[in-house]
Amino acid sequence: MTAQIEFVDVQKYYGTYHALKSINLTVEKGSFVALVGPSGCGKTTLLRSLAGLEKISGGEIRIVGERMNDVPPRKRDIAMVFQSYALYPHMTVEQNLTYSLRIRGMKKKEARKAAEDVAATTELSHLLKRYPRELSGGQRQRVAMSRAIIRDPKAFLFDEPLSNLDAALRVHMRKEIRTLHERLGATSVYVTHDQIEAMTMADRVVLMKEGRIEQQGAPLELYDRPINRFVAGFIGSPAMNFVPATVGADGQSLVLDLPGNQTLPYPGRLEPSRRVVAGLRPEHLVPASGTDALIRLPLRGAEATGATTFLFTESDPELAVVLNGRNTIKVGEELGLMIDPALIHLFDEKTGERL
Ligand code: ATP
Repeated sequence: MTAQIEFVDVQKYYGTYHALKSINLTVEKGSFVALVGPSGCGKTTLLRSLAGLEKISGGEIRIVGERMNDVPPRKRDIAMVFQSYALYPHMTVEQNLTYSLRIRGMKKKEARKAAEDVAATTELSHLLKRYPRELSGGQRQRVAMSRAIIRDPKAFLFDEPLSNLDAALRVHMRKEIRTLHERLGATSVYVTHDQIEAMTMADRVVLMKEGRIEQQGAPLELYDRPINRFVAGFIGSPAMNFVPATVGADGQSLVLDLPGNQTLPYPGRLEPSRRVVAGLRPEHLVPASGTDALIRLPLRGAEATGATTFLFTESDPELAVVLNGRNTIKVGEELGLMIDPALIHLFDEKTGERL
């Protein structure tokens, strides 16, 4: 594997505000990396720094081994695809596609051929003579992508490209972008605040918080082994339940801070009486009855979506449960739950680090 993009100890200040704090990140050639995190965590700043639209305050950004710190955006040989598409409204699709080639001196005939080739890949051949206003949102998005593809850049950068589209089209475009990425053998860096989008599209997910990378890895690595409570709460939908607990005298059980002295077995060895936080994913809590029920709480509500039902308990903290199928328990009645002990996540009560 070769590194297509490298961030080495990258720092960015806006005045005194420290927006990027020692970012170390390598993007391999051909990979699809998603930058994800809550609003204001620095995703866009990181992407814009890579594009050269922001000057970094320290560290180094390399593209194919070459230091880019002082290289202007147009010389970095990367293409950015924005949420707003940024198409030229007075130009046809074909002119939008050929514009960057023409200003670099490519002959008209050659540029047209290049546009036709790309349009064939992105299924735009029949729309080349149209103007942007005559296209649907999804088609405009494809033109924006095609305009990036035609330049054959070293990397594609995406800044929340799907946030203007409706839910169904978003799901469709996710697949389309991913397919194009594979077909082109492209290297892509994709910013989104939507963790599902990040999980389904990317080979690697980089989760940021307050200007730092909290964890990076394969999507399921972050889901299976979140390194702290923040990652655990961000990845997964609905979000993980967090229940404070005390380790039992045997060091192998957790007495939950829920009414009724409810106890879960724990497969590891822990220090007795230690205070911890148990992370229980809603999809790992399974309705159970009799002695199988490790947790018993009154049902506060149920939301059926067809294939699955979301249940909520009447407790503090409230537990969310994802049930495969339909609910038969009435509100106010007792809901019994079990969980495979191997699926319990544990965090230090104070630091939030994984135990
Ligand atoms: P969102 O998901 O809301 O777009 P983000 O993760 O992309 O958020 P950034 O746009 O990278 O976040 O911003 C990171 C932080 O830097 C924010 O706190 C923001 O207020 C601050 N910031 C961004 N641009 C500037 C600027 N030009 N001057 C001062 N502060 C800025």
